[in-house]
Amino acid sequence: MDKKTKNVRNMTHWPIKTPTVFARRMLATPKSFIREILKVTENPEIISFAGGLPNPGLIDVKGLAQAAADVFASDGRTALQYSTIEGYLPLRRFIADRYKKRLGLAISPDEILITNGSQQCLDLIGKVLIDPGDRIIIERPGYLGAIQVFSLYEPVFVPVNLNAGGMDTAAFESAVSGYDTKLFYGIPNSQNPSGITYSVACRKICAEILKGTNTIIVEDDAYGELHFSGKSLPPIKKYLPDQTILTGSFSKIIAPGMRLGWVCAPRQIMDQLIIAKQASDLHSNYLSQRIASRYLEEADLDVHIGKIRAAYHEQAHAMIDAMQDNLPASVSWSQPEGGMFVWVTLPVGCPAVDVFTEALKKQVAVLPGLPFYVDGGGTDTLRLNFSNATPARITEGVERLSKVIQSFNR
Ligand code: PMP
Repeated sequence: MDKKTKNVRNMTHWPIKTPTVFARRMLATPKSFIREILKVTENPEIISFAGGLPNPGLIDVKGLAQAAADVFASDGRTALQYSTIEGYLPLRRFIADRYKKRLGLAISPDEILITNGSQQCLDLIGKVLIDPGDRIIIERPGYLGAIQVFSLYEPVFVPVNLNAGGMDTAAFESAVSGYDTKLFYGIPNSQNPSGITYSVACRKICAEILKGTNTIIVEDDAYGELHFSGKSLPPIKKYLPDQTILTGSFSKIIAPGMRLGWVCAPRQIMDQLIIAKQASDLHSNYLSQRIASRYLEEADLDVHIGKIRAAYHEQAHAMIDAMQDNLPASVSWSQPEGGMFVWVTLPVGCPAVDVFTEALKKQVAVLPGLPFYVDGGGTDTLRLNFSNATPARITEGVERLSKVIQSFNR
C-alpha cells in the first residue's frame, strides 16, 4: 500500500447502504451509532456511561426562565421576528470579550458567526471548504459528529494517533509533509472521545508543522471552559490566527437545548460561511440568542462554570477512583483534566462490543470505541461518560463493569 492510501478510511465496518435513489454522499455517511445505542439505554434503571449529556442538574433553569421572561416582556415582538445572519451583536460582543479576557485572543465580533450549536459550524465548514477527495487530518480516535458531518462532503480522512499529551506529533508531521491537505480538524481541550488535552508544547508543534502550508486548522473548542483546574491553555489559533477556524459552544456551559454555538474565522472564510449559513437556515434561532444574551447580562458566568467544573471534577474522580479500585492492571485509561469522558483500553481477548452486551445485562451502558476510528480499529476501547451520573451511581456502575471485564479475563 502506498503512503497516499495507507491511512484512507476502510469503510467495511460502517453500515453499508444499498445504492438507491439517494445521493452518493449519503452512501459514505455513517448513521449515528451512538443514537442507536442510546435507544437501548433509555431505561432509567440503567447506569449509563454511554451518552454525552451534560449534567441536567447544572442547567440554571430559574435564571434562564427569568431571562426569557425579561426578553418577552421588554422586546418580545423583535425577539420573535426574523433577524440577521451573523447573529445578535451583543452576544457576539460577549463572546469576543470573553476570548480577550480568558485567552488574550483579539477577535472582533465581526469575525464571529452564531450557529445552531457548534455542530452546525462543522457542516458549514464542510460546505465551504471540502470537495470530494480532499484530505482531512483527524485525531485517532476522532469525534464521531465530525466524522459524520464531514463524510457528507466525501473527503479522504487521514487519522493520526493521539497519545497522553495530544497528537503524536511525529505521525502528524509525516501526515502533513508532502501532501496537499485541506483541513486539520482537532479538539485540543478534553477531546471527545478520549478525554485527552494537548500539552502546550503539542499545540505549538502542530502550529509550527502547519505554518506555511495551505492547510486550514479547525480547532473545535466545545469543552475549553471545562478544565477542572480552571486553567485555560493557549488555543492553536493563538499561534496561527489567520490559518485557524475556532469553534465554540454554549451547550456545555449554559444548555444544549438552546442550540447555540459559534464559529470564529478569518475574514475571507467568514464571508463564505455567511453565504452557506444564509442558504442553510437564514439565521440561528433568534429567540434563543436573545435569551442567552439576557442571561449572560445577569448571571455570573464564571461562578456558574466554576460549579460545573467542580461537579465534573468530582464525577471524574469517582470514576477514576472506582476504576483504580476495581479494574485489573491489564486495563488502562486516560486521565481527564476536564470535559466529560474517560477513554478505556481493554486487555487482549476482551472485545469492547462483547463488554457492551454483557454490561447491559448488568444494567450498565458503555460505548464501544469502534465508531470513532475512521480506519477501523479501536475494537478494544470504550468511551465512558461521567457527567450524567451521580458519584455514587458512577462507583456502582464501574464495580459492575469491572466484574464483566474480569469475566473475560479468566
Ligand atoms: N464538538 C464536539 C467535540 C462535541 O463533543 C460536540 C457535542 N457532543 C459538538 C461539537 C457539538 O455540540 P453542540 O452542537 O451542542 O455545540
